Amino acid sequence: MPVDQIPNFINGEWKNSAAAEFLDIRNPATAETIARMPLSLTAETGQVVAAADRAYQEWRLVPVTERIQYLFRLKHLLEADLEDLARTITLECGKTLDESRGELRRGIENVETACGIPALMQGQISQDIARGIDEMMIRQPLGVVCAITPFNFPAMIPLWFLPYAIACGNTFILKPSDRTPLTMRKIFGLLEKTGIPKGVASLINGGRQVVEALVDHPKISAVSLVGSTAVAKAVYARAAANGKRAQCQGGAKNPIVVLPDADMEMVAKIAADSSFGCAGQRCLAASLAVTVGEAKKTFTRAFVDMAKSRKVGYGLDQGVEMGPVITAESRSRVASLIERGAKDGGKLMLDGRGVKVKGYEKGYFLGPTILQDLPPESEAAQTEIFGPVVAVISVPKIEEAIALINRGRYGNMACLFTTNGSAARKFRSEVETGNVGINLGVAAPIAFFPFSGWKESFFGDLHAQGRHAVEFYTQTKVVIERWPKEWTRKF
Ligand code: NAD
Repeated sequence: MPVDQIPNFINGEWKNSAAAEFLDIRNPATAETIARMPLSLTAETGQVVAAADRAYQEWRLVPVTERIQYLFRLKHLLEADLEDLARTITLECGKTLDESRGELRRGIENVETACGIPALMQGQISQDIARGIDEMMIRQPLGVVCAITPFNFPAMIPLWFLPYAIACGNTFILKPSDRTPLTMRKIFGLLEKTGIPKGVASLINGGRQVVEALVDHPKISAVSLVGSTAVAKAVYARAAANGKRAQCQGGAKNPIVVLPDADMEMVAKIAADSSFGCAGQRCLAASLAVTVGEAKKTFTRAFVDMAKSRKVGYGLDQGVEMGPVITAESRSRVASLIERGAKDGGKLMLDGRGVKVKGYEKGYFLGPTILQDLPPESEAAQTEIFGPVVAVISVPKIEEAIALINRGRYGNMACLFTTNGSAARKFRSEVETGNVGINLGVAAPIAFFPFSGWKESFFGDLHAQGRHAVEFYTQTKVVIERWPKEWTRKF
């Protein structure tokens, strides 16, 4: 059956790219090709930026109260199409339908939060800072901004950026993932239905060439990227070399620490959801479980039982709790890291490499995998695996658990499970990660808090979401005015 070429959305129109090279977009549960994605050309990147720049000259003057009306409409359209969009996410990304719905809800929350931008982007004024002199700070948009997003949340992550950028008065260009571009194609179709002026939001499909052309383009004022650490760091450096504002979120290796006083049944369930939800392909997935003292026995037993019972399959099928990983290459990479972990001394308490799903033999499935007593310095304990694999490491005291976490290169999230408030307080204060969970497995900030990665999980100052997004997408202008009393005319 012929498959569709995914068009770009430039200046409010859908256009096929003139690219010579295409990538096959595959359903990871069936390995079927469901679309062809163009590696758009540098010239096309120039066209998208030029259209966004033209649109910016008008859009920045549209009152903020009017700009957000398009977002109110978008929210209603997203709600109405939620099931169709969730199905599209599952088809291209592999996660279960419930996970896809959850991702969309998180994305919609960001649209809702950006509807509050008339209040969030207000300035400040101080009257009479000297005789007859007032000083004010106003927030103005930056111009044309762009975002480059990863495969694992095809709807939510672009919505960390798009609504804030345009509500603040910028025009916006998205380069979605080159593995999951179909969901945003649909969401841009909804945006078009809101009647938003041409060129305010654009979509260009492609890979590294498009990213570099965007980051280098003199008319692009700010760059947001979410992806692996190597890419985040390289794009951040390139944007900085071009004198641009950038926020680049990278990879992660998220630990959960289990104290012996925790409620083990609850912890095992929450930890399994964190580690194996979205097949371990969440940037907040727990991939290291650090047990303290006696928790080694009690947690590991309950965790292995919980992991074993997880139903792996096609995300569109009823009752499935875990879908495939994104590509065949990803599955081989994860499998070789499991092999390596076992060679380095990890005990395979559960090995997901042999999992087969009846009816979907070509799918990229892996089952939950647990490696116990992996040396903390080994590759599998240090590297971001981005699959359903957890290393269990045991230490005698909470201080050692915190020290182990703080030695790591990433700083996306750390969680603690305990019923002891003082231990929780110590952990919250001392652990060096940007997001912290207490008795939670996925500490994903709601839309009005920043998504606060640290260390090699984030390059920049202002994070995605909430007030940080408003600050990122605006520049402050300070105006000082003198109006001497003597100039007052008597009318
Ligand atoms: P990736 O780094 O392969 O790709 C991310 C984006 O960058 C894509 O749009 C891709 O086309 C583009 N890209 C890839 N290589 C590039 C290059 N050399 N130069 C310029 N652009 C390039 O990431 P992925 O595999 O799509 O996503 C998974 C990664 O994203 C994981 O490491 C995960 O931890 C991370 N992630 C982080 C967060 C976070 O909030 N910190 C959230 C989600 C995902």
